[in-house]
Amino acid sequence: STTASVRRAVDAPPLITAADLPPLRQFIDGEFVDGASERLIDVIDPSSEDVVARIPEGTVEEVDRAVVAAVAAKEQWARRVPKERSEILHSIADRVAGNTELLARLESANTGKPLAVSRDDIGQTVDTFRFMAGAVRAATSLAAGDYAEDHLSVVLREPLGAIGVVTPWNYPLLMAAWKIAPILAAGNTVVLKPSEQTPLTTLKFAELVADLLPPGVLNVVNGYGPVVGARLAEHPDLDMIALTGSVASGRAVARAAADTLKRVHLELGGKAPVVVFPDADLTAAAQALRVAGFWNSGQECGAACRVLVHESVAGEFVEQLACEVGELVVGEPLAGDDVEVGPMVSKAHFERVTGYLERARKEGIRAATGGGPIDGPGYFVAPTVLTDVPEGAEAAREEIFGPVVTVETFTDEDEAVRRANDVPFGLSASVWTENARRSHAVAARLDFGTVWVNSHLVLASEVPWGGFKGSGYGRDLSIYALDDYSRTKHVMHNHAR
Ligand code: NAD
Repeated sequence: STTASVRRAVDAPPLITAADLPPLRQFIDGEFVDGASERLIDVIDPSSEDVVARIPEGTVEEVDRAVVAAVAAKEQWARRVPKERSEILHSIADRVAGNTELLARLESANTGKPLAVSRDDIGQTVDTFRFMAGAVRAATSLAAGDYAEDHLSVVLREPLGAIGVVTPWNYPLLMAAWKIAPILAAGNTVVLKPSEQTPLTTLKFAELVADLLPPGVLNVVNGYGPVVGARLAEHPDLDMIALTGSVASGRAVARAAADTLKRVHLELGGKAPVVVFPDADLTAAAQALRVAGFWNSGQECGAACRVLVHESVAGEFVEQLACEVGELVVGEPLAGDDVEVGPMVSKAHFERVTGYLERARKEGIRAATGGGPIDGPGYFVAPTVLTDVPEGAEAAREEIFGPVVTVETFTDEDEAVRRANDVPFGLSASVWTENARRSHAVAARLDFGTVWVNSHLVLASEVPWGGFKGSGYGRDLSIYALDDYSRTKHVMHNHAR
């Protein structure tokens, strides 16, 4: 019963023009260069299904050139004192902030995101650079003291060296910033592969900041995961590999990295439970889920996508939630500032999401609102609430990564905790209750890297983000990200003679 429609941008000027595009080449050693292959990858606007650009399909050769550049640059970059690196990161933040509208339009043209979402991404990108610019000055060496007789210990934070990064398509520039900012702040150099589907803002970023960084400190190689990404993961001259992506890619990266024993940082999928107790403010929870379940069209690893609600309030809660979700404005990026939900990023992902909905329908699961695709052009899916979802159903266990929230019921606190934890993921969760004892007790028992109480999806640069279990290991944002991209050295001086 899909009643949603797509609001189209009638008579709007194009979102981007050819002049807005970055150089569609590889960025190696401070320059945009051509690679060995002439093969190109189509970059598609998922609202219109038009090809907006073509980028080069990178090969192992370009990865190796970029690694040579990153390795050559690492010693000089590491030797810069934190204040100098910090000043450069502030300049990067200023450059990005000064180009917010351009970057937001490019991001929306490549992902279909509502412009409000893209602007939010760019604002958070700026804040990530500013935070890391400050944090690195406060977190240089770790400790010093006499811990053994006549011996002075100095514990130092050192950069790791040259780091490979692979990013996903859901927040193309922001996920790149979550890696690049702490990696550079900590004194490392980087070779980054953006998602082959969404390279435009990462390339634009490289163009915008090229003159601020010494050559080789930042390199961008476009291409497919199993070629360019896999080479980064196995490369003998890289000291670490960091990936944000799916569980399958995480496994492939960890395996490829094993031979060199390089450090691995993995931010993988999620399936966030939203546990609603009978004493919760149901209206506040439904309003929050309208945002947290559907932000970025649900293509969000922390999305509030799996409601577990106490059976005594389930009927009332589903009614309020379906009402909120049914009001969401679906549209193209230029169809108005009030557009809340855009298309799925690609045809393949659209088919994946609608496949889940189709199978749920065949299993007899009812949609309280939405439930299927909306007519094209564009890969739009109606914002959906699936109700009375039985325990263990596919839709409630697997990461759909679209505008779909499932609702299950529970009878007591123990059951709620057991079922919330009964997924292979452990990224984030939320608890909704007015009872302080219960909120503490349940948060303590939830096996997730982030637990919100009476909130969901709120983040800040100061707080760590990362998963347990199948959601990977390593932390983005916060001082913990700087730790991930640093190594600890102990130097001990005998001062007895
Ligand atoms: P994906 O794993 O398909 O792709 C991510 C990146 O990995 C792409 O650049 C891709 O080219 C690359 N890749 C694919 N195979 C590879 C291989 N064998 N070796 C090296 N690299 C490879 O994921 P996606 O579809 O782009 O992104 C969606 C996924 O990312 C979701 O599962 C989502 O939960 C996750 N994600 C997690 C977070 C987080 O913070 N935990 C944030 C955003 C997205």
